[in-house]
Amino acid sequence: MAWLFGFIVICGAYSTMIQLNSKQALSGLVAQWKTSGKTIGVVMTMGALHEGHLALVEAARKDNDHVVATIFVNPKQFDRAEDLQNYPVDTASDLEKLQAAGVDAVYLPTPEDIYPQGYATKIVATAMQDCLCGATRPGHMDGVTTVVSKLLVRTGADHAYFGQKDYQQFKLVERVAADLDLPVAIVGIPTVREADGLALSSRNRRLDREQRAQAVAIPEALKSAAAALHSGKSWDEVRAEAEGKILDAGFSKLDYLDLRRESDLSEVLELKEGEAVRLFVAGFIGTVRLIDNLPV
Ligand code: AMP
Repeated sequence: MAWLFGFIVICGAYSTMIQLNSKQALSGLVAQWKTSGKTIGVVMTMGALHEGHLALVEAARKDNDHVVATIFVNPKQFDRAEDLQNYPVDTASDLEKLQAAGVDAVYLPTPEDIYPQGYATKIVATAMQDCLCGATRPGHMDGVTTVVSKLLVRTGADHAYFGQKDYQQFKLVERVAADLDLPVAIVGIPTVREADGLALSSRNRRLDREQRAQAVAIPEALKSAAAALHSGKSWDEVRAEAEGKILDAGFSKLDYLDLRRESDLSEVLELKEGEAVRLFVAGFIGTVRLIDNLPV
């Protein structure tokens, strides 16, 4: 029963949230829930929480008896030291938000708890990697699929919730869970946006006022690109227009602007009846890299 001493209980007006910092404390709680036949939903985050994360929590609350949220800024998924160093951290406010959202337990592991000395295993999906963020952020997707696999095992989740804002991540996690026979359903949740269309992201906190105004060029360009494709314009033409709009707005560089199938993320050159496709974009505004995607 050592795990009993490994957690802190946060009491609020409406709910009680358990805070866990070690693998042992988490597995003790998970074992207790499983023994009493309860279902578990997990929402994995890197903190600096916003309404997008909370939409995942809300879905998890509806489908499961208990919800675990994780907050871990996973060093293995950062390809730029500058991005890791500047990643926003706001734990006190995150805990308040999770508690108010009705999360039962929050797991805040240290890097050593996830990757103890001697740790030497990677979980790598070999499909859907050579494009989008898989191609432009070396090692990023492997870092994601590795930590997600570990957290799926540790939380014993029946359902795990991922935002479609990170669509490639969602598809790779689905692939890995299926390939490793993990007994979990991977659920994709639509992107939550600001009133002007900008996708919520923890990285938006790093935009100054001017950059924040410029950033809206991304959803606006995606929206008009989708409309132009439906009106019969060629992808080449639509692509050039969308890229121009984003760069003219103040983005310094685009990593990609692609049209791809939802099924396997392969490239599409024209719309076909009955085929689900999405526009995908990643671009830099100052040193901040923003991504977005939109079903067409
Ligand atoms: P992060 O903390 O950025 O690693 O994100 C944690 C989870 O929240 C991932 O599954 C993301 O896809 C999801 N997420 C982040 N932003 C949004 C958003 N704007 N709408 C929906 N889900 C999101």
